[in-house]
Amino acid sequence: MTPPPILRLDAITKRYSPQLAPAVDQVSLSLGQGEILGLLGPSGCGKTTLLRLVAGFEKPDGGTLYLGSQPVGGTTWLPPERRDVGIVFQDYALFPHLTVEQNVAFGLQRRDRKGRPSTDLQQRTAEAIALVGLETLTHRFPHELSGGQQQRVALARALAPRPAIILLDEPFSNLDVQVRLYLRQEVRDILRQVGASCVFVTHDQEEALALADRVAVMHQGQLEQIDTPEAVYGQPASRFVAEFVTQANFLPAQPSPQGWQTEVGCFGVTGVEATQADLMVRQEDMALVEDAQGVVVVRDRQFLGREYKYCLQTPSGQLLYARLPMTSAINVGSRVQITVPSQRLRLYTPQAGGSPTRSHSSLSTASPR
Ligand code: ADP
Ligand code: MG
Repeated sequence: MTPPPILRLDAITKRYSPQLAPAVDQVSLSLGQGEILGLLGPSGCGKTTLLRLVAGFEKPDGGTLYLGSQPVGGTTWLPPERRDVGIVFQDYALFPHLTVEQNVAFGLQRRDRKGRPSTDLQQRTAEAIALVGLETLTHRFPHELSGGQQQRVALARALAPRPAIILLDEPFSNLDVQVRLYLRQEVRDILRQVGASCVFVTHDQEEALALADRVAVMHQGQLEQIDTPEAVYGQPASRFVAEFVTQANFLPAQPSPQGWQTEVGCFGVTGVEATQADLMVRQEDMALVEDAQGVVVVRDRQFLGREYKYCLQTPSGQLLYARLPMTSAINVGSRVQITVPSQRLRLYTPQAGGSPTRSHSSLSTASPR
């Protein structure tokens, strides 16, 4: 039997104002014990609001929120301090007048009124500080720390009370790229080590895919897809998810007896009933063949170390991007043909609200004809 989820949202809605669209609109999802859930979406899509609802800083206008099997945010209400949820804010929100040690102990002190002995407090503080590797900096103040170190303090403070759930709001967004890559691996290791159940918010699709067990993609307050990173990337549930997560190319396409006709050729996708659709072509799925008769022109080629990124121009002027291995360098100005394995293609039809249709693999490769 699978254990019950540690957190469950059932059609949670939050409106800041009756005139505005809901910031969080009928979101249902669950978090498993020890699971890392990445909440991914563009700025303003409702990610922080969702975290604040879970933490109890906001009250939902509709739906029910459960911690374990207990309903806590709906008709019954449990205040934030009684929710057993730790939160790391985007700006860390450290107390500037408290040392590292005092910041980390802060959450425990509040709990200590329940009568826990102070040795336990000291021990837990030391453990949490050791977990994030700041043992030598316990007496420093926040302004004496780097951004990455401040982030570690915030994480230690959230982890110290050993909450059932940890919420992280864009934990790496204020750090430079080197620190971000390093720290995200480390934070993942720490969360795994303590078996934390965690929701972390990000607008960076690569970060979500790399860190999470499952990714929840939000758009305008709604949950568009929740699935494993592989499934979200491989089978995006909507045109929005496809565009935001995979950064693929989209070509307008019309059906023809041979397949879906685009300005760069005809592609063998079957099983789709529509008069117009957008064909999704991932950057890494294109193969390019030099062809003097080709209608696509190579406008630019960037060397990315492990691969080339090509910028291609179609007859209508649309720019397409392709990533190809180093083995095939095609010169700028060349004309090319594009081929894509048909099982990698997907169609998004406006009629079905941008929902996808997976390509039919009756053709082994789809080549322009
Ligand atoms: P994200 O974290 O994904 O950037 P937010 O949850 O912060 O998104 O915001 C979602 C929407 O709700 C935005 O349109 C934002 O302007 C609005 N919003 C957020 N907080 C408030 C607030 N306190 N009062 C009114 N509107 C808010
Ligand atoms: Mg936010």
